[in-house]
Amino acid sequence: MSQAVLDHVRSRPDLALPAYVTDLPGLSAHAARVRAALPAQLELLYAAKANPDPEVLRALAPHFDGVEVASGGELEHVAAALPGVALSFGGPGKTEADLELAVRSGVHRLHVESRRELDLLARLAARTGRAVDVLLRVNAPLPVPDAPLAMGGGPSPFGLDPGDLDAAAAAARAAGLRLRGLHLHLASGLNAPACAELAAAAVAWACAWSVRTGHPLDELNFGGGMAVDYANPDARFDWDTYGAALSGLVRQHPGLRLKVEPGRALTAYGACYVTRVLDVKRSHGRTFAVVLGGTHHLRTPAARGHDQPLTVVPSERWPADLPRPAAPPGPVTLVGQLCTPKDVLARDAPVPALRAGDVVAFSLAGAYAWNISHTAFLMHPPPAFLYLQPTAGDQPRARRAGPAAAA
Ligand SMILES: *Cc1c(COP(=O)(O)O)cnc(C)c1O
Repeated sequence: MSQAVLDHVRSRPDLALPAYVTDLPGLSAHAARVRAALPAQLELLYAAKANPDPEVLRALAPHFDGVEVASGGELEHVAAALPGVALSFGGPGKTEADLELAVRSGVHRLHVESRRELDLLARLAARTGRAVDVLLRVNAPLPVPDAPLAMGGGPSPFGLDPGDLDAAAAAARAAGLRLRGLHLHLASGLNAPACAELAAAAVAWACAWSVRTGHPLDELNFGGGMAVDYANPDARFDWDTYGAALSGLVRQHPGLRLKVEPGRALTAYGACYVTRVLDVKRSHGRTFAVVLGGTHHLRTPAARGHDQPLTVVPSERWPADLPRPAAPPGPVTLVGQLCTPKDVLARDAPVPALRAGDVVAFSLAGAYAWNISHTAFLMHPPPAFLYLQPTAGDQPRARRAGPAAAA
């Protein structure tokens, strides 16, 4: 839990809720620590789909070398938020319009996911006369350690099948595309030893491929997927261990530019979703607290099936002439305002005394949170957005809609 966010919430009993409160200095300090743990020669990209909020992009920008975007929309959005930033364009299902936009805007790298994309790109490069630097994303046949989300190592819609890679590389070069190397984003939710093991296996596999086929391998992108432990919000991905392993790979392969593109592990800790308990009730032996808002603002626990970590901030705000619903001692299930049993933020949470009117801050809400939420469902109002600013004493700025609502 971001202490700065909690301090702010405690000091403002009149805060408009629900609200996303983003700790910009905390985000920036975390990104600086990540950067410092990684070898200087390694390229650190930020995967914008985790949280494309312009305030977040600007707070992180001093610490990364570029941004990975996964749609034409993200490409335009990030280019506008960070003029001149180096963009790498990945993602399956790119349309011809997406590719044309990328080529005409001079994208830094194109991560090609299929033969169809490659053929479209070759035609575009010929038509526009533009140079296009590509990495071929390959679903390499590597053992993926037990991961919450696997995108490779077995059948998947992501990247080229290894059986199609050689022909794609030959076609890219024949078409005059600048083939820089390979991209592998095989899993998400890996701890540092698992990421290190996968990186070493990826380097060995890619180097062997390059030697066998004669195709160039100047760059190798390992993707993202560094774990965030929602059950243990104080735990952090061990960037020092991962960085040390990557330093070893950099020393062994001085001519090879290594890249990583984390999303979740950079931004998850940077924001809280703060709301107020509307009602407390017992049902068939279980205690429920209904909060303002819900998974239409913070879809993360519904999408992942986990309990969002939370802190209760007691509040004295309650009308004197109304009885105040309160939870009996014991666990409480916190749900939102939606008419569906899936609107659960945390199941059987071990909370201290909880009453209607109390404030609840859900932490680890800075990645795959607001921007993956089904915000139109039931037509409740959007949350407020507050940003804690770098300079002490600054008033946090507030605005009524976030990037997803504005888009
Ligand atoms: C989503 C994604 C990432 C970021 O993944 P995280 O789990 O958020 O670190 C990086 N690269 C690619 C290609 C992705 O699809």
